[in-house]
Amino acid sequence: MRSIAIVGAGQAGLLTAHDLLRHGYDVTLYSDKSADDFLTKARPTGTAARFDMSLAYERELGLDFWEDGAPKGEGIHLTFSPDAGNRLLTLVGRFSDYFLAIDLRLQSHRWMNELEARGGRIEIENVTVDRLDEIAGDHDLAIVAAGRGDIHRLFPRDEARSTYSKPQRKLCMICTRGQPFAFPGIDLLPVKFNFFATFGEAFWVPWYHKDHGPGWSMLFEAKEGGPLDRFDDVKDGHQAVDIGREVIREVMPWDYEWCRDMELLDDNAWLKGTFVPEVRMPVGTLPSGRKVLSVGDSTMSLDPIGGQGANNGNKMARNLVSEIVARADRPYDEPWMQSTFESFWDRHRWIDRFNNTLLEPITDPGKELLIAQYGSDGGHNASPGTQKTGTQKTGAQKTGAQKTGAQKIADLFCDNFNDPALLTGAFHDMKAARKVIEQATGKPWWHSAIRGRLAIGKGQIRQKLGMNPHHPGTVN
Ligand SMILES: Cc1cc2nc3c(=O)[nH]c(=O)nc-3n(C[C@H](O)[C@H](O)[C@H](O)COP(=O)(O)OP(=O)(O)OC[C@H]3O[C@@H](n4cnc5c(N)ncnc54)[C@H](O)[C@@H]3O)c2cc1C
Repeated sequence: MRSIAIVGAGQAGLLTAHDLLRHGYDVTLYSDKSADDFLTKARPTGTAARFDMSLAYERELGLDFWEDGAPKGEGIHLTFSPDAGNRLLTLVGRFSDYFLAIDLRLQSHRWMNELEARGGRIEIENVTVDRLDEIAGDHDLAIVAAGRGDIHRLFPRDEARSTYSKPQRKLCMICTRGQPFAFPGIDLLPVKFNFFATFGEAFWVPWYHKDHGPGWSMLFEAKEGGPLDRFDDVKDGHQAVDIGREVIREVMPWDYEWCRDMELLDDNAWLKGTFVPEVRMPVGTLPSGRKVLSVGDSTMSLDPIGGQGANNGNKMARNLVSEIVARADRPYDEPWMQSTFESFWDRHRWIDRFNNTLLEPITDPGKELLIAQYGSDGGHNASPGTQKTGTQKTGAQKTGAQKTGAQKIADLFCDNFNDPALLTGAFHDMKAARKVIEQATGKPWWHSAIRGRLAIGKGQIRQKLGMNPHHPGTVN
C-alpha cells in the first residue's frame, strides 16, 4: 500500500486525505490543530460557500453532514452601483442547485474525527520545512495543503499565471446572527451582493455556525481610501460588527433594516487582512532535494470576491487524487507532479479568470449581459404555469421554457459560480456575449440592449426625482 502524507487539515487537505483513504492508500494527516482546537481556538479561514460541483464531491466522499440543518443558498441578488447613492441595476438569479457555506472550524473538526474513524492517521504538529523533509522521506508522496501558512513559501510564484503582485482589496469578514433569512421583494434565499464600481463590494452569505446553526457570513471588500475602507483599526469582532452596521447604514441603506439587530456569533467568528491573489508552482523543493506537491490555497490564493477559493481547492483535490490513482505504481517524480496541476489548470483555469474579472472594472460584454438580464427577479416574472416555491432546491424545478430570457441570463450568471467555464469567456468577447443573449431570449441581441437600457433609464430618472428606483427584486 503506498503511503501518502498531507500537511494541513483545512478543506483541501481533508478532502484529499479522505479521497485517498477510500482508494486504499495509507494516509497520514499532519495538522497544527487538533479536531477540538478547531472548535475552541481557531478562526474560520473564510466563508467557503460551496456550489454544486464541490458539494457533489463531498457527498461522494460521505462528508455531507450538514445538508439538513444548514441554510441552502438558492441564488444571487446583486445590486450594481456606479457609486454610492446610485443603484443602477439589479440581478436576481437562481442556481440550478443550492450552495452551502459551513463553518470551516466545524467542518475540519468533524472531518478529522471521521478520517481517524475510517482508518486514517492524524499527527498534531506544526510541520517545519526540515520536518517536512523527514516526512517526505518516510512516505511515497508528501502533499502540502497548509493554506497560506508559512510553509507554502516552498512553492514559488508562477509569474506567467499570476495576474497581481499586490492585494486587490482590504477584507473584513464578520459572522453574525439576528438577521432574517429572507429579503423583501424576492422569494429565494440569496447571496446578497452589493457591487460599487468605484470603491469595492460587500456581500452577505447564508452560513452555518459551529454552535448556533444558521447565521450569516458578511464580507466587506474595500478598495483603499473608499467608504468601505473602515476596518483598519478594528481590534475585535464586536467592533467589526458595529463598524459594518454603520457602513451599511451609510452606503447600503437598503440593507440596513435587515441587519440592524445583527450580533457576532462568537469571539473568533471574524477576520480582517489582505493578501495577494496569485498562482504558485505546484512543486516545492526541500533542503535534501526531495520534491513535495501542493493543493488548495497553498497552490492558488484567490480573492474571495467570487466565492471560488474553497471550490477551487475542492476541484483541485478531486483532480489530484484521480491523477494519483491513475499513476498506480509508477514513481511520483517531478514531471508527473507538474502534470497533475496542468490537467487541473486545463479544465479549471476559468476559475481564476472569473475571479479576476470580478476584481476588475466591468468589461463591455459584461455590461451588455447585465443590461440584457435586467428584469430578472428570480422567477416572479415567469410565464403563467411556472412553479413558484419558496422551498429548497427549486432552481432545477423551474424549466427553461417557462423563464423569461432575462431570467435565463441571470440564472446562467449564477451557475457560472459553480462552473466558471460556462460564461466567463462571454464576459471578454462581445460576439459570445451577444450569442448568449440571443440564445436566451430567442431575439436579436439589440432587442434586449434597447429594452434593458430603457428600463434602467427609468430607474435613473426615478432616483433623480428623489424616488426609489423600483428595481426588480427590491421594495425600497
Ligand atoms: C474572507 C474570505 C471569504 C471566503 N469565502 C469563500 C467562499 O465563499 N467560497 C469559496 O469557495 N472560498 C472562499 N474563500 C476561500 C476559502 O476559504 C479558502 O480557499 C479555503 O478555505 C482554503 O482551504 P485550504 O484547505 O487550502 O487552506 P486552509 O483553510 O488555510 O487550511 C490549511 C490548514 O493547514 C494548517 N497549517 C498551516 N501550516 C501548517 C503547518 N506547517 N503544519 C501543520 N498545519 C499547518 C492551517 O492552520 C490550516 O488549518 C474565502 C476566503 C476568505 C479569506
